[in-house]
Amino acid sequence: MDNCRIHSIETLGGVDGPGVRCVIFFQGCPLHCLYCQNPDTQSFAGGREMALAELMHTIERTRPYFGPGGGVTLSGGEPLAQPQAVAELLKACQAKGIHTAIDTSGVCVTAPALEAARLADLLLLDIKHPDSEKCRALTGSGLEGPLKLLQQAEEQHQAVWIRHVVVPGWSDTLEVMDALARLLKSYTCIQRVELLPYHTMAAEKYQALGRDLPLPGVPAADPVHVRQLEVYLRERLA
Ligand code: SF4
Repeated sequence: MDNCRIHSIETLGGVDGPGVRCVIFFQGCPLHCLYCQNPDTQSFAGGREMALAELMHTIERTRPYFGPGGGVTLSGGEPLAQPQAVAELLKACQAKGIHTAIDTSGVCVTAPALEAARLADLLLLDIKHPDSEKCRALTGSGLEGPLKLLQQAEEQHQAVWIRHVVVPGWSDTLEVMDALARLLKSYTCIQRVELLPYHTMAAEKYQALGRDLPLPGVPAADPVHVRQLEVYLRERLA
């Protein structure tokens, strides 16, 4: 097994896929989302190099806590920016009967990245804005990548959970929910849609990196409003 660059590992994750999960945060991301809560994962020079065997050892150690519904989630950063490592890790987990998920922005759609993505039991796919130009303004990249990944998942009957961060002034309206519903409605592979509220807790991380908060003055999203938007969106997708 090769090495890969890892930012951190959360051994008892509860929000990145079903059940209790070991979440492996890969270091490095080609995007620069204005609302990124983990700017310290963006640089490909950061993190630390780890052998995949070492990662498998950690996964095996935490396996007793997964319960029947849990497993491993590869997150980041952008895990599919290291597709060979992701593919090897997924294969090793699946050989041991461990459920696998990839949490991705869909920005990496090279042949090796698509091949690696295909191996996961579940894709947690971010749709950062339903309008491709606004998506580009918000993240640095449009919708082409995530839609390609979604199309592959559809063709291969791979389970997908869509995630969307609600950012005040960018994506917190019923019109954006309607556009998301129009974009996603025809995909039968989508099992679930989650809306996540933008928050400003990363301010200190940006400060530590010597960077300004990319969305100055934008307040955290109101969780009650986000919940209402989620109910509205799910009704339109039903
Ligand atoms: S894709 Fe994720 S890690 Fe990368 S910049 Fe966007 S929010 Fe941050």
